[in-house]
Amino acid sequence: MFILSRNFYESPVCLCEMGATWVLANEHIPVLVPPLDYSDVKGVIPLTQGLKINDPLKLNSLKTKIEKLFTIEKPLSFSTWERKRDRILSRIKNSIENQAFSVEEQSSSISPFIEYRGAKFKRKPSGGFEESPYCLKCEGGTFAMNGRMPFVCGSCKSTSGFKGVEITTVLSEVEREFS
Ligand SMILES: [Zn+2]
Repeated sequence: MFILSRNFYESPVCLCEMGATWVLANEHIPVLVPPLDYSDVKGVIPLTQGLKINDPLKLNSLKTKIEKLFTIEKPLSFSTWERKRDRILSRIKNSIENQAFSVEEQSSSISPFIEYRGAKFKRKPSGGFEESPYCLKCEGGTFAMNGRMPFVCGSCKSTSGFKGVEITTVLSEVEREFS
């Protein structure tokens, strides 16, 4: 069985190992880990017996296949199997989602700023946005002297497109639009 993650698939060493086993073994089952999809490995790996690690029906066929292959005489009852399978599936789902999240975090750390209503907002590494806006032009810190005035850049004196008092509303719009 090959557990094919994106990292695995991008590693020449891993692919080489897989190729060698491919030649020697009769049975090989590629297991895809999303976000890697069948279309990503199409033409490179024969996927007739392939499955996605989070596909409950394919896991059922894998169970049957393994039982046959190893001539297991008293297989797990289907209800027990389903319960265990679903427990694993929910853990897999969590891992996949966390992975997707950390990829997103990495790309946002390249540019943590988003633009909105004449200001920039900075993503926090932990998620969400910092509460005070940044300058649209120079990404400097800003401040509002009072609620009726816009935020002013400490360096270049540019102003935000909204008043100080609107910051709570603007922040929730930013969260909604860009989270
Ligand atoms: Zn500025």
